[in-house]
Amino acid sequence: MSKVIVIGGGAAGMMAAVSAAEEGHSVVLLEKNEKLGKKLFITGKGRCNVTNACEVEDLFQNVVQNPKFLYSAFYSFDSRKTMEFLEAAGCPLKIERGDRVFPVSDHSSDVIAALHRMLKKLCVEVCLHTEVREILQKGGIAAGVRLADGRQREADAVIVATGGLSYPTTGSTGDGYRFAEKTGHRITDPLPSLVPLTVKEEWCRLLMGLSLKNVELCLKYDKIELYRGFGEMLFTHFGISGPLILSASSYYMQKAAGRTTQAYIDLKPALSMEQLDKRLLRDFEENSNKQFKNCLSGLFPLKLIPLMVTLSGIDGEKKVHEITREERQAFAGLIKHLPLTVTGTRDFAEAVITKGGVSVKDINPSTMESKRLKGLYFAGEVLDVDALTGGFNLQIAWSTGWLAGKSAATYGRNGDYAPE
Ligand code: FAD
Repeated sequence: MSKVIVIGGGAAGMMAAVSAAEEGHSVVLLEKNEKLGKKLFITGKGRCNVTNACEVEDLFQNVVQNPKFLYSAFYSFDSRKTMEFLEAAGCPLKIERGDRVFPVSDHSSDVIAALHRMLKKLCVEVCLHTEVREILQKGGIAAGVRLADGRQREADAVIVATGGLSYPTTGSTGDGYRFAEKTGHRITDPLPSLVPLTVKEEWCRLLMGLSLKNVELCLKYDKIELYRGFGEMLFTHFGISGPLILSASSYYMQKAAGRTTQAYIDLKPALSMEQLDKRLLRDFEENSNKQFKNCLSGLFPLKLIPLMVTLSGIDGEKKVHEITREERQAFAGLIKHLPLTVTGTRDFAEAVITKGGVSVKDINPSTMESKRLKGLYFAGEVLDVDALTGGFNLQIAWSTGWLAGKSAATYGRNGDYAPE
C-alpha cells in the first residue's frame, strides 16, 4: 500500500482523495480550513450546480481556456459519471433548464455530505486546520509536504488541489501557484473571471438595481468582436453584472484583459432595425399628440426611459408627431446599440473563478502529473483551465480530481514512471 497526500479539501481535492482511495491506497486529505468544501457550499447560490448533463463533446464547447488539455479527464470522467457518483453516494440529483444539474434538495450541503460519506467509507484520513507550506522532494521525486506548524508528512505521490484566487475567504489564496513555481512550473497570470465589469459611463449608477432580461451583448476591442451573447444583465453602482456579463467577462479577460473595450447592448434583439423602426412608427402614430418622454412605456422599463430620452438627444417634451424620420431611425439605432465603455473588472473577491494558473504545458493531460517533478499532480482550478457558468467549472474539478487520484495511486503502487 502506498501513500497519497492530497492538498486542499475542495471539489477537486475530495474527488482526488476518493479516487485514489478506491485503488486501495492510504490517502491523507489536508485542508487548512475548519471544514471541507467551503467554496462548494456557496456554489450555485447555495444550491450547487454540480455539473451539466450535456454530451461530453459539449463540455469542451463550454471550456474557454485550454479545452484540449481536458480530453482525457473529460472522457474518463464525464458529467454522467459525476451524476452516477453523487447519486450512488446518496445525493439524488435533478436536471434543470440548460441541462444544469442540482441536488434534488437544492442544498449544496448535501453534495458535501455525500463526499464526506465516500471519504469515510474509503478510510481517507481527513486533517482539518492543516495548512501545507511546501512540497518536499527526494531524488527528483515529490516525497511529501511540510506543514505550517513545521511537521513533515511523507508520501509516494502528492496531489495539489488548492484552487485559485477567487473568493479567498473560502481558502483559495493562491498557495498552489507558489508550490508550482517553487517546483519549476510556469504560471499563466491568474486573473479574475466570470466577474462583473466596470464601465466608464456614470449613467450606469442611475440604473443601479435594474435587471434586463432577453438582451444581447456584443463586446468589441479594436473593431474585433470578442463576445456576443444573449441573456440577462444587471446595472450596478460600478457597472454591469448578471449571467450574460459574467460570460462576457471570460472572453474579455482572455482577449483584452484590463483594456478599454466597447460594449453594445441590443435592447430589442428579437427585432431587426427595420422591424424596430416600424414598431416605433406605429407607437408614435398611436401617441402622436403625446410628449416623446411619455410614449415609451411599452418599450422599456420605467427606470430606463429618462436615460434613453437623454441619450437620444431628442427633447423629451417634444410632441411625438414633431419627431423627424431621421431622429426616429437614430433612436432605433440607439436601442439596438446602447454603447458602454468597459474599463476593467471587479476583483477576485467577486470573481466566480480564476483564469490562468499552473501552465498546462507543464502537466501531462493523460494523468495530471507534472512534467517537472515526478509524483506531483495537479487538479481543479489551480490549473490554467476554465469554463463558462452552467456546472462546467465543477465538472473540470471532478474530472481532473478523479484522473489525478487514479494516476497518483497507480504511480505509487507500481513505483514506475514513464515520462512523456
Ligand atoms: P476550491 O474549491 O477553491 O478548493 C481548494 C481548497 O484548498 C480550499 O478548501 C482551500 O482551503 C484549500 N487550500 C488552499 N491552500 C491550501 C493549503 N496551503 N493547505 C491546505 N489546504 C489548502 N462552479 C460550478 O460548476 N457550478 C456552480 O454552481 C458554481 N458556483 C460558484 C459560485 C461561487 C460564488 C463561486 C466563487 C464559484 C462557483 N463555481 C461554480 C466555481 C467552482 O466553485 C470552482 O471552480 C471549484 O470549486 C474549484 O474547485 P477546487 O477544488 O479546484 O478549488
